[in-house]
Amino acid sequence: MIETGLSGRVVVVTGAAAGIGRATARRFAEEGARVAAWDVNWGADGNGSNGGAAVAAELTAAGGEAFVQTVDVTDADAVADAVEAVAERWGAVGVLVNNAGIVRDAQLVKAKDGEVVKTMSDAAFDAVVDVNLRGVFHATRAVVPGMIAAGGGVILSASSVVGLYGNFGQTNYVATKAGVIGMTRVWARELGRYRIRANAVAPGFVKTEILAAMPDKVLEGMVSHTPIGRMGESADVAEAYLWLASDAASFVTGAVLSVDGGLVVGT
Ligand code: NAD
Repeated sequence: MIETGLSGRVVVVTGAAAGIGRATARRFAEEGARVAAWDVNWGADGNGSNGGAAVAAELTAAGGEAFVQTVDVTDADAVADAVEAVAERWGAVGVLVNNAGIVRDAQLVKAKDGEVVKTMSDAAFDAVVDVNLRGVFHATRAVVPGMIAAGGGVILSASSVVGLYGNFGQTNYVATKAGVIGMTRVWARELGRYRIRANAVAPGFVKTEILAAMPDKVLEGMVSHTPIGRMGESADVAEAYLWLASDAASFVTGAVLSVDGGLVVGT
């Protein structure tokens, strides 16, 4: 058993209403952490307006403390206010998990019989950059001053296997997931002197809502290239965040941890 040092730590998880974020919030709660769960839409898991209460109950039952906040990470002021509310309740944020993310897939230029039939729209590009890249920037900028004052912290961000090797139909998404790796490396360099570590996690294909629009054929193809031979579970990724946040990883910074069943080497 590893000593995580996470009991009582103040942890913010963005996009915590569903999928990987929800599993991650729960995993930190199991360690006795104080978890501020952020999401723009607490109905995201199909529980309607009760979604936030359900997550709060889940985190408390798991053994943590819960603070459910409605926060759109694209809104810098809302993010700053939410960090302030966390600080007032529990003190400085010790761990930030930048998990919130969206997709708006389209080919850059789709042609049929030599004619262009569709292109990726500016709106699709901007929406994904706003959440997946700017949102990470907003949240990290908002928590770092408190971490510096407190003498340390951990920034963890969601990249993706596709940020490492690209993916058909994902110009916007891949740009953000590669960008997250770039920002993580900058922050490892800039913030190490304050005992703040910054790492990224690059999941493979994990069974969540975000894959809803992806054809089964594509997903089956991905599994066939995955040495471990299955899709990922949200809990697989949650474990990686937990370890990276823990004291056991105190010399790990600037890293990109693949949690993909070997997909990146199997391709
Ligand atoms: P999901 O769609 O199940 O959950 C994402 C959550 O983020 C939702 O609850 C949603 O409401 C929230 N969110 C969206 N926009 C937001 C905003 N502006 N502010 C706050 N919250 C917002 O997705 P998931 O599969 O759990 O993915 C979580 C992260 O992991 C994402 O960054 C995703 O890109 C990344 N990832 C997922 C996979 C996968 O296969 N599922 C693979 C690689 C990387």
